[in-house]
Amino acid sequence: MASVTYTAQSPIAGQIFTCPRCQREHAYPRVEQKPIRCECGWWYTNVGHHHLVEEFKPRIGGHTG
Ligand SMILES: [Zn+2]
Repeated sequence: MASVTYTAQSPIAGQIFTCPRCQREHAYPRVEQKPIRCECGWWYTNVGHHHLVEEFKPRIGGHTG
């Protein structure tokens, strides 16, 4: 039996952000880039200084403002 080799071949480079609501994993949002729009309805925006702003924006009517 060959030994198991673990290769760091994650499709998401760098940090991973896990949604605290639904535990989905996302690429960590970068400052001044698009916020994470989690499928559970929560948005996470990186405002700098390792601080994330979270907003709940349920998909109602399909208008995202
Ligand atoms: Zn979520």
